[in-house]
Amino acid sequence: MTEAAAEQVDIVIVGAGPVGMTLHLALAAGGQKSLLVDRRPRQTANPSSEPADPRALALSQGARQLLEQLGAWPASAATAIETIHISQKDGFGRTLIERDDYQLPALGYVVRYNDLAQALNKRLTDDALRDDCEIIDRTTHASGVSLTIRQRGELQRIETKLLIHAEGTPGNDPAVSVSDYVQHAVICEVTPNPGHNNRAWERFTPDGPLALLPLGNEYSIVFTLPPAKADAVMQMNDADFIAALQNQFGKRMSFSQPGKRSRFPLALRLRDTLVKGNEVWIGNAAQTLHPVSGQGFNLGIRDAWQLAEILLNSSVDRDNPHSLNWTEALARYAASRRLDRRGSAFFTDQIVRAFSNDFPPLKLARGLGLLALDVFPPARHFVAKRMIWGARAWP
Ligand SMILES: Cc1cc2nc3c(=O)[nH]c(=O)nc-3n(C[C@H](O)[C@H](O)[C@H](O)COP(=O)(O)OP(=O)(O)OC[C@H]3O[C@@H](n4cnc5c(N)ncnc54)[C@H](O)[C@@H]3O)c2cc1C
Repeated sequence: MTEAAAEQVDIVIVGAGPVGMTLHLALAAGGQKSLLVDRRPRQTANPSSEPADPRALALSQGARQLLEQLGAWPASAATAIETIHISQKDGFGRTLIERDDYQLPALGYVVRYNDLAQALNKRLTDDALRDDCEIIDRTTHASGVSLTIRQRGELQRIETKLLIHAEGTPGNDPAVSVSDYVQHAVICEVTPNPGHNNRAWERFTPDGPLALLPLGNEYSIVFTLPPAKADAVMQMNDADFIAALQNQFGKRMSFSQPGKRSRFPLALRLRDTLVKGNEVWIGNAAQTLHPVSGQGFNLGIRDAWQLAEILLNSSVDRDNPHSLNWTEALARYAASRRLDRRGSAFFTDQIVRAFSNDFPPLKLARGLGLLALDVFPPARHFVAKRMIWGARAWP
C-alpha cells in the first residue's frame, strides 16, 4: 500500500498563542493562507472551563491599534490605565505618568490573557488551526520543512515552505542565551480598597518589582520574589499572603479577596538568530523578557505584524507559489527586528538589575533618578512612550 501524499501548506505557524494567532490573521487579511498548529485543545468560550493561562497583560496603544485592525480587540474585557505611579520601597523619589500629558484615551490597557486569546480565536476560520497536536518529526530541506504531527492519535504529514515558531518560551536550546534573574513572579488578583481609579503601580523592592495592574474592579498583581520567598508566598494562607503583599506595597490602600496564585520563573532568553533556513522565530520563542514594564507581548505583536508585512510584500505572484522569495524576505525581517528586540531586552534588563537590590549608593541614585523623571519631562516622556508605544512610535 502506498503512503498517503503529504499535505502541501505554504506557511505553518507552530503555536496558536496570541502572537501566532496575530500573525495568522495578519497574513489572512493580506490574502496569504497559513496553518496554525498548537498542542493545546482549542479554547472554547465556556466560562466554566479552566483558564489556559492565568496571566493578565498590559497592552500598549500600539498593540490595541494592531488588534483593532484585525477585529480582535477585546474591548469589553479591557481596563484602561490612566496613570502609572512608579516608586521604590523604603526609599525616596517617585514619578507619576499621566494620560492627560499624551492626549490619549489611555496610557495602556489591561486584559486577561484568556480574553485576548478568545478575541483572536473568534476570528479564526474552522480550518485555520490544528489543535491538540504534537509535532513528532521535523526535517528541514532546501525547499522547506517536512512535518509529522499527531492529532488525537492520528498521524498527519505536512510539507511547508516556511515554518514559523511562535511556541512561546523555549526550553533548553543551545541557540538561546539565558540569563537567570533568580526571581519568580507570583501572580494573582486582589480587590483594592479604595477602588483602583485606573491607576497602575510599579513599585521596586530589593526582592524585585511589584506591579499592580487595574483589571475590572480588581488589581492583577505581579509579585516578583527570590525563588525561596516565592515558595513561601505560594504556600501562605490568604491572610498571610495579603500581609506580605501589604508589606511590599505600603499602606496607601488595602487589599482583600486574593484569587488563585500562580508562579513563573523569570529569565531573559534571547535567541541568537531569528532565521535559520526556512524557519523563523517570533514572540516569546524569539525573546522572553522579564515582565517588568509589560513589554513581552507588545514586542511579540510587533514581530508578528512586521513579519506579515514583509511576507505579504514578497508574494510576487499569488497564483504562482514558486515566485515566493522567502530567503530574501526572512533576511529583511531579521534585520528589521534587531533594534526593537535588543532595545526592549536591554530596557527591561537594566531596570531589573538596577532596582532589585538594597545597595545604599544605588538606592540613592534610584531615588534621584525617579525624582529626575518626575521634574524633567523629556526623561519621563521617554519612559512613558516606551510603555505606550514600545521601542519606537508604532505603528
Ligand atoms: C507574569 C507575567 C506577566 C506578563 N505581563 C505582561 C504584560 O503585562 N504585557 C506584555 O506585553 N507581556 C507580558 N508578559 C509576557 C507575555 O505573557 C508573553 O510575551 C506572551 O504571552 C507571548 O506570547 P506568545 O504567543 O509568543 O507565546 P505564548 O503565550 O506562550 O503561547 C505559545 C503557544 O504555543 C503553544 N505551544 C507551545 N509549545 C508547543 C509545541 N511544541 N507544539 C505546538 N504548540 C506549542 C502553546 O500551547 C501556546 O498556545 C508577561 C509574562 C509573565 C510571565
